Parts: sequence; structure tokens; C-alpha cells
Amino acid sequence: MKEGSRALNDFKVGEFFRLGEFECPCCHQVKLVPYLVYLLDKLRKEVNAPVYISSGYRCENYNRKVGGKKHSYHPLGMAAHIFYRKANLFELATLANKVGFSTVIYYPEGGFVHVDIREHGLGLIGASKAEALRRELEV
Ligand SMILES: [Zn+2]
Ligand SMILES: [Zn+2]
Repeated sequence: MKEGSRALNDFKVGEFFRLGEFECPCCHQVKLVPYLVYLLDKLRKEVNAPVYISSGYRCENYNRKVGGKKHSYHPLGMAAHIFYRKANLFELATLANKVGFSTVIYYPEGGFVHVDIREHGLGLIGASKAEALRRELEV
């Protein structure tokens, strides 16, 4: 983004992320709980390599459209899907758990890790998609 750009949501939140990375792809609206960014910054430092957001906030419509659960934490601005360029994605999940995300769900087939900051978190779920669905977790 060039200097002087007035693009929506194009400003820093936390140390390593921009608000636009978290916006809903359908409407560009965004909600973001600061503690989520705080932990993402902490994780980014731990990983010492770029961490990318593939899904952040979702408006209710978009959440339905992508098959997100009704009680998904994405429409609350409390969840994100993350990935990096390193080979071992499970390592990212392990580190996410270590830095304090209350729920970390490893989705090897999707190539991402779901992290959220819900109360009474589920810890690290290194499970197959089937197992995740059986537990009625959200993606
Ligand atoms: Zn939307
Ligand atoms: Zn998710």
C-alpha cells in the first residue's frame, strides 16, 4: 500500500499486524478484540517469521456462507486462522497454545491453525477434521 493511501482499515494494530488483515472479505467490516492481537504479536515473536491471517472477523452473513458454526468466535472478533511459510504447521499450533490462546485447532488439510480467546478454552486440538466435527467445534 503506497504512502498516502486512504484504504479502509489499513493501519497497524499491535506490533506486526494491520487491521485490514482481519476484515470480513464480503463487507470489509471488522471487529477485533485487542487481546487476540496481543497474543498474535506474542506468537509472531516466538515464531520469529511472518505469521499470516487467512480468516479473522466474519459478519454473520459471511459466517453462514462459509459454513461457520452459529457460536463461532469469528463474528465476535475473538478468532483467527493463521499460517506461516515454514513446513511444520503443527509447530505453529503448539506455539500458539504455549503463548496463551485458549483454543487452538490444527487443520492440516486446510493448511491453517484456528486460534481463539474464548473463556474456558479447549486447549490444543491436534485432531483430524473428523474428530473436530465430532466434538462440534467451529472452524
Ligand atoms: Zn461480511
Ligand atoms: Zn475458525
